[in-house]
Amino acid sequence: LLGGGKGEDMEEKKRVLIVEDEKSIVDIVRFNLEKEGYAVLTAYDGDAGLSAAREEKPDLILLDVMLPKRNGFDVCRILREEGDNVPVIILTAREGESDKVLGLELGADDYITKPFNPIEVLARVKSQLRRYTRYNTGPQDVPRPDEAVDIRGLRVDRESHKCSLNGKEVSLTPLEFSILWHLCRRRGKVVS
Ligand code: CA
Repeated sequence: LLGGGKGEDMEEKKRVLIVEDEKSIVDIVRFNLEKEGYAVLTAYDGDAGLSAAREEKPDLILLDVMLPKRNGFDVCRILREEGDNVPVIILTAREGESDKVLGLELGADDYITKPFNPIEVLARVKSQLRRYTRYNTGPQDVPRPDEAVDIRGLRVDRESHKCSLNGKEVSLTPLEFSILWHLCRRRGKVVS
């Protein structure tokens, strides 16, 4: 049903990009992720992080907020504006709630407050990757991908031709619906 290549995708290592300027944090997170079988990419400032995200297309990004050159919120916002829906977990040293809210408004999927336990980071990474890949790897208990897709609060149901965002119905013309469906079904790929 999902076509060829499924097995290959599942065997491939998931790639996690860490964008963080504190080397000690990078090292400990990298160590724990690699131990669990992830491939780890690193960037030590915001610009390098943005380039790595664009060029390497990682499966997930761990993104510090206070970074040289460009802060993590900017990196996240720019990626979302470019249509990149890679899962992003913000690493924040600040305790203020506004930080968390801002990160989530800019399109981050989760946040972790420093200092953190590496085990917690692993758990969050796994959870986000599970959410993100379930329609690609297809457990049996989710709707068939040719009927409906759920992406970060956006649900597009082809059977009923209905679309909703965070539970609120969105009114679309048939053409808009077709385009949105087409894009959702090919997320992460270039669509002509
Ligand atoms: Ca930092």
